[in-house]
Amino acid sequence: MTITELVNPATEQALRTVELTDTAGVDDAVARAKVAQKSWAAAAPAERAAALRAFAAVVDAHVGELAALEVANSGHPIGAAEWEAGHVRDVLQFYSATPERLSGKQIPVAGGLDVTFNEPMGVIGVITPWNFPMPIAVWGFAPALAAGNAVVLKPAEWTPLTSMRLGELAEQAGLPEDLFQVLPGRGSVVGERFISHPDVRKIVFTGSTEVGTRVMAGAAAQVKRVTLELGGKSANIVFADCDLERAAATAPYGVFDNAGQDCCARSRILVQRNIFDKFMELLEPAVKGLVVGDPAARDTEMGPLVSRKHYDSVAAYVPDDAPVAFRGSAPGGPGFWFPPTVLTPERTDRTVTEEIFGPVVTVLPFEDEADAIALANDTEYGLSGSIWTDNLSRALRVSRAVEAGNLSVNSHSSVRYNTPFGGFKQSGLGRELGPDAPLSFTETKNVFFAVEES
Ligand code: NAD
Repeated sequence: MTITELVNPATEQALRTVELTDTAGVDDAVARAKVAQKSWAAAAPAERAAALRAFAAVVDAHVGELAALEVANSGHPIGAAEWEAGHVRDVLQFYSATPERLSGKQIPVAGGLDVTFNEPMGVIGVITPWNFPMPIAVWGFAPALAAGNAVVLKPAEWTPLTSMRLGELAEQAGLPEDLFQVLPGRGSVVGERFISHPDVRKIVFTGSTEVGTRVMAGAAAQVKRVTLELGGKSANIVFADCDLERAAATAPYGVFDNAGQDCCARSRILVQRNIFDKFMELLEPAVKGLVVGDPAARDTEMGPLVSRKHYDSVAAYVPDDAPVAFRGSAPGGPGFWFPPTVLTPERTDRTVTEEIFGPVVTVLPFEDEADAIALANDTEYGLSGSIWTDNLSRALRVSRAVEAGNLSVNSHSSVRYNTPFGGFKQSGLGRELGPDAPLSFTETKNVFFAVEES
């Protein structure tokens, strides 16, 4: 048996140990999930809907407990962690309507009746990263279960606790045994086995583009379906004709949320040259005013980075001679604290081109609309972004021209459970959330019934 020791990122104190699943454990779980899926798919739609609503209700009753676990395991500020736990409930509620609404089509054809069925795929493998353990897990497992599948979920090595608790709560809510199983373990063991196991029919992978490409290549051997949610290097484009005060005041929240460990982080702020100095003047107090500290405190806006290893990776982007414009604060002492940091590098610098995944933002000037669009698109990523302008026509033109899956105009919102989410280019493949997500966990079956002439 292998165990791993988890560490509280705000204190560096040992938290608890977790037993890691081995390959035989995955095979056993998948075999049991396969059996559970058959009876789940055969249950009445209303019964499956009620089971998902019951799961949502039990999660709702445990929001405080789940949030406290995430504070301790991931260092998320308590307010954010509560939102994340509540989001699990909301996503389950939203997709609890699916079983009774997953209607196929009736298509007019000659000689009979033609209908389509949305058949469940079977067992779905969900692999999640450490940055938002609860939301990213539920984006996979809720629509997958709602579409009639079983789910095996592998949380990230550093942050498995809330996912493990959600597995227990599903059981407590009365979801059929083995239908939803959480298997903590290594990517190289549990993740790889999901990919190679012939009875896992689809992989939902969220994580780095590097691992995502390996997942896709492995899945190809069995023509296994994949949804990939990968990295990002999103642009926050600030035009001279916007509400500059608001753009500057909100920019830190668009990138430093979750200490920048956010695939949607607007980590490149692009500012029209004629307002660049004014913007930087306004940005400085907003960055310095960010409350960085104990994640359990109610007024904390930013916590620590998730681990020592990740801290070292982020810190390597800010050497002593880095072009630092200004920095916010961070507590001293134990914990993986990194202050919000604003850089003004050249366009070709690696801080501009690579995903840092920490509280480091680059600010670059641009000349005009065409230059802004070219700069925003000058990346292999395409996940999210923001556009600040009071000119409606410009907002429309630019939002159509930026190659990214989730844009917001005059705000930094990215994720709502009822709207689709996913990336262009190397930020991913497929879409999660929104009304259509359950369809990506089904196969369309077409059946033609010949009708004889009377
Ligand atoms: P990661 O790719 O290192 O790991 C993600 C998951 O994959 C973990 O559970 C890991 O154990 C597993 N894994 C590792 N190797 C594997 C393998 N060979 N086969 C199968 N699974 C394997 O990513 P991370 O460091 O945990 O997360 C950070 C990354 O996630 C960032 O790039 C970020 O942008 C991305 N992310 C994307 C989204 C999105 O929705 N697009 C959301 C959150 C995070």
